[in-house]
Formats: sequence, C-alpha cells, structure tokens
Amino acid sequence: MRVIKKIKDMKVLSESIRRSGESIGFVPTMGALHKGHLSLIERARRETEHVVISIFVNPLQFSPGEDYRRYPRPFQKDMGLAEGAGVDIVFCPSRREMFRNTPLTSINVEKLCESLCGPFRPGHFQGVTIVVAKLFNIVRPSVAYFGQKDYQQAIIIKRMVSDLSFDIKIRVLPTIREKDGLAISSRNTYLRPAEREKAPCLYRGLCAGKRALDKGERDPKEIKKTIAREIKAVGVTPEYISIVDTKTLQDLPKIETCAVLAVAAKIGSARLIDNLIWRDNRNV
Ligand code: AMP
Repeated sequence: MRVIKKIKDMKVLSESIRRSGESIGFVPTMGALHKGHLSLIERARRETEHVVISIFVNPLQFSPGEDYRRYPRPFQKDMGLAEGAGVDIVFCPSRREMFRNTPLTSINVEKLCESLCGPFRPGHFQGVTIVVAKLFNIVRPSVAYFGQKDYQQAIIIKRMVSDLSFDIKIRVLPTIREKDGLAISSRNTYLRPAEREKAPCLYRGLCAGKRALDKGERDPKEIKKTIAREIKAVGVTPEYISIVDTKTLQDLPKIETCAVLAVAAKIGSARLIDNLIWRDNRNV
C-alpha cells in the first residue's frame, strides 16, 4: 500500500495508471475508518483494478461551532484497516496541501442542497462539492463510491458529476449498520453509553415509518408522526423528519411509489443522520 501526501505525486501516479489503461476505484473519506467505509472499499476492489482512498478531514464542510477540531483522526489504525482491506493507495494530504489558498471557487448544486440537512448546515454541501471535485481532479477515478447513509450528499455529487461532465461513474452503496440498527458513523464515538443506547431510535423510527407505508398509509404527515413517536419515546428531539422525492429531494405532499424517509437528531454532542428508501412493492 502506498501512502501519498502530495497532490503532485498523486497526480503523477493516477496519470500513469490511466495511461496503462487500468481503472481506478476511489473512496473519499474523512478517516476514522469503519465497516461502512470498508464496504465501499470492498466493492471498489471487486469492480476496479486500483483502489485509492482519500483521508482528509475537510475543514470547508464544517460550520463554525461544529466538530472539526475534535473529529477523530486515528491515523495508524486507519492505515492498518486500509492495508487489511486491500487498498492500493491512500491519499492523505494535509490541510495546507489541499487548501494553501482558501478557494474562491464554489460549486453550488442548487435546490438539492436546500432541503434536509441544508438549512441546518449552511455552506456544508458547498464545502463537500469543492473538495470532492478537487479530489476527482487529483485522483482521476473511473468509479467513485459513496454511502447511502449520506443520501443527500450522494445525490448532490451525482448531479455535480453530470452537470460538469466529469467522466466518473458514481456508485451509491447501502448503509452498514450495527446489530441494533444504528447506522455506523465515525461520529458514533462521541456517544456516551446512555446516549449510545438511545441512538438506534432513528432507525427504529424510520422502520416504523416504512411499515406504515407498507400497510398502505400515504399521508406524509402521518408517517412523520409515526417516525417521531419512536424517536421521542427515548427523549430525543429530532432536528428534522422529512419525506422527500428520491431524485429532487423536495418534500413530498403525497407519497406515491417511492420516497426517502430521512431524519437527523443531536444525541449528546453527536449529530446523527439516517434514511431509508421506501418503494411500493405492489408495483414491482
Ligand atoms: P465520511 O468519512 O463519514 O465522510 O464517509 C465517507 C464515505 O463513507 C461517504 O460516502 C459515506 O456516505 C460513507 N459511509 C459512511 N458511513 C457509512 C455506512 N454506515 N455505511 C455505508 N457507507 C457509509
């Protein structure tokens, strides 16, 4: 496994791989690697010839007052996990290497960044798009892998890639969960034991919403109430509970054949998000 810190070195390497006609699968991460990241790496290994991951805690996607400084950075452990997972190249630039100058360019994927987490994290998705676009230009992958856990992010990246004609396939893979349903996240490490016990309420709420849909309920207000009941039962206040169109991410006034059920909540000092996609199986 090669560990590369300089943009120039990564570019030279990706260029030589491309010239040899081989494919690069890319998994961008902020490190603190877990089973969710490993599932993306595993798929990249199956589908492409060289697997590159990036580890970069991107300052531009944290708002003031968020957890940029204390975000976990277990570098040695990450190297061991990456090596064990069969990663070929880890690209881990410093903050200075990536953003010697604060970028004056911004990529605003309008509309898609206005719902769900958008209003609660001003500037977050612009921070994500600029860093992902920059990483795409440095790593030059044929396929890039993202998790459904960050559904809004994945849809925004897909749209950016299409709008800007990046020659990259975007794969969105299922959310990996703990046994009790909690979506695995680097931020779960912030949870104290009592908070950790409460945390699966997000997934329980989403499952309850999905069951109500399967039974025929189609009113988003009722579904949201069902989801809220499970979350509030353990004393957690949701930041939002939304039922949105799978492509436009706009709130659905009426649920028809498919929808994304999405929630966010602060539990202790961890802001957690989760979602499920519901499809009407009767139409299949
Ligand atoms: P992060 O390091 O949190 O920025 O995540 C890097 C990538 O891993 C993103 O595409 C996430 O959506 C994805 N990811 C994070 N958690 C999970 C999970 N539990 N299951 C699947 N993918 C995940």
